[in-house]
Amino acid sequence: MIALNEKIDWHPEFLKRGRFKKGLEAAPDWNVSRSRFWGTPLPIWRCQCGNYSVVGSIEELSKRADKSGNKYFLIRHGLAETNVLGVSNSWPEKKLYHLVEKGRKQVELAANKLKKENIDMIISSDMLRAKETTAILADRLGVKNIIYDERLRDLNVGELNGKSTSEHDRLFKNTEEKFTKSFPGGESRNDLKKRMTDFIQDIDKKYQNKNILIVGHGDPLWILEAISNNLSNKQLLKSHYIGNAEVRKIKRQTFPRNDYGEIDLHRPYIDKIDILCGCGGRMKRIPDVFDCWFESGSMPFAEKHYPFENKKIFEKNFPADFISEYIAQTRGWFYTLHVLSSALFSKPAFKHVVTTGNILSEKGEKLSKSRKNFPDPWILIRRFGVDAVRYYLMASSVMSADNINFSEKEVDEIYKKYSLITQNVLNFFQLSSHRLKKSDIAKKSLGKNILDRWIMSRLHSTIGEITSAYESYEIIYASRPLLDFIQDLSLWYVRRSRERIKSESPGAAEALKTLRDVLYNLSLIMAPVTPFLAEMLYQGVGMNKKQSVHLENWPKVNKNLVRKDIENNMFKARKISSEALRLRAEAGIKVRQPLQELRIKSYELRNKKEFLDIIKDEINIKKIIFDKNIKDETELDTAITPELKEEGFLREIIRAVQDLRKKAGLTPKDRPKLLVEANSEGKNFIEKYAEKIKKETLLLKMELVERLPQGVISNNVKQDKIEINIAF
Ligand SMILES: [Zn+2]
Repeated sequence: MIALNEKIDWHPEFLKRGRFKKGLEAAPDWNVSRSRFWGTPLPIWRCQCGNYSVVGSIEELSKRADKSGNKYFLIRHGLAETNVLGVSNSWPEKKLYHLVEKGRKQVELAANKLKKENIDMIISSDMLRAKETTAILADRLGVKNIIYDERLRDLNVGELNGKSTSEHDRLFKNTEEKFTKSFPGGESRNDLKKRMTDFIQDIDKKYQNKNILIVGHGDPLWILEAISNNLSNKQLLKSHYIGNAEVRKIKRQTFPRNDYGEIDLHRPYIDKIDILCGCGGRMKRIPDVFDCWFESGSMPFAEKHYPFENKKIFEKNFPADFISEYIAQTRGWFYTLHVLSSALFSKPAFKHVVTTGNILSEKGEKLSKSRKNFPDPWILIRRFGVDAVRYYLMASSVMSADNINFSEKEVDEIYKKYSLITQNVLNFFQLSSHRLKKSDIAKKSLGKNILDRWIMSRLHSTIGEITSAYESYEIIYASRPLLDFIQDLSLWYVRRSRERIKSESPGAAEALKTLRDVLYNLSLIMAPVTPFLAEMLYQGVGMNKKQSVHLENWPKVNKNLVRKDIENNMFKARKISSEALRLRAEAGIKVRQPLQELRIKSYELRNKKEFLDIIKDEINIKKIIFDKNIKDETELDTAITPELKEEGFLREIIRAVQDLRKKAGLTPKDRPKLLVEANSEGKNFIEKYAEKIKKETLLLKMELVERLPQGVISNNVKQDKIEINIAF
């Protein structure tokens, strides 16, 4: 066992030579039996003489079981008036129906065939048509020993007794229902199975080494034959119905059977089977059952009914590639699997194992129903979605056999940073995707834009990272990169591409196509951890070729798109930007107010115009200067010249107009007229920048008015002496 453990790939790895190996070395006694009623009975029979025997299969048990030695022949009554008239006739017989002449002839012919079988006794139904059949048979076969048994009577049809058999079918939806639904005041077929089981088991016990002829009716004999042949209900329905005066020989095998005659290896049925001992005595089963951990450990072969069935399938799939359970199974399931597999197959039962830890309360206590020291999972799921909860766990150290203190706050954070952001990016894409033409989509090559190249590189790096994490069974490292990627996508790619996507430039289509590819691939790589969000994304992007993302293949890394240099430079650009934004915030200057210049100490991005342009856009500055001699990494010139101030105010006005458009529910296609009410300084300002404002905010025209009409939605902008009110 210790040697075979070396072949197992443990996650986390320290369990291999730690906890699990120590358990194997200690090899504590494992009591595999339990003195219980419920469970898998131990297949051990013991005689009073001290002899005992372990039985290896149902067949073996049947062969070795103590048997009656009886042979059974079934015969249905000959053609009767009931058959000719199509009338149901069950007990009590309200009217007496006889065999018809043809029926008597049928029985005589059957009797001739039965002569060679040396019938010792006849057991018959006590209904008239069966009794008349029995009389002929007894006479022809010279049988004196006749027993009438009411358990052989025809199926009890209750209220339909005496009515036309054509009324039966109306009572049942289908033939299957006849097993579970009874005739009103009568029996179902399952009742009949029970009745016939009781009958045959009783007869089998009472008589030994007899050739017994059973005379009865269609349904009961048909069912008696089927249960003797171990047919399922489905097979029974397909089996041939017994005709009038038809003789069938049944091979009655001894099996543990339940009340319905079905093979059932559980207690109490198995305890009724005795095995004959060499000493002439009877071996009884010892009453114990297996420890249920023995069954868990038997799962790999037991679930396949190996070695009795599925031999090839089992051999092909054993050992399992991968199993997962929590840490305590190092002494439980992992252990019992390993013990049985080592003993039976000299192989480990699994190649890889991912071991999880325990979830504790936020304070680190054991979760307890009585103390209720955990948030209601249903409330959590309703609030944050099942994917947020799932991602939280899959990316946490609980996937590496550590205990975690469950934090609702962290689930909330994942909901916001992962679930909501994914949804927002998809919404943004869907609002613009109609602008993407087929010819744009057909283009194979990626555009020149650095943001497009960057996000595609990030995507394929992420696919690579997640793929190799899954390949090495590291669930945490397969999960965590998703959140980083979604953050990059939303907070940098989409944010920095928003203007381009809204613009009329060819770059808009390039960006949309890139976003579409990214979202599609994102749906594939998030599918294992956040299956519902993945499906939403997959269906929402509209590139789906399959019915579901979960039917898709795993994406492949396109190495040509991975550009570590771009990723590194973008990382630096983002770092510089956030530093500059911090300096702005410290100086209390809004981003909308343009500033003159930013000085950067490091020369790494020098001459990298595309990255510098992104920084300029992001932090709204005119110029970037590289200067080795500055004290800090970045220095922001916070002086606001009159020109910069005017430009800043212009941005304020433009923003106010855009805001007004939004409030009025206008689309980019609408070209409204803007009404402007302003003081004299305001009028001067508006006149100076009228063309710029009109162009940037897509206005038809601007009109200076004395007063805005009353009650309209308006915006107010002011700076120093300038004051302006605007409305449509
Ligand atoms: Zn014995």
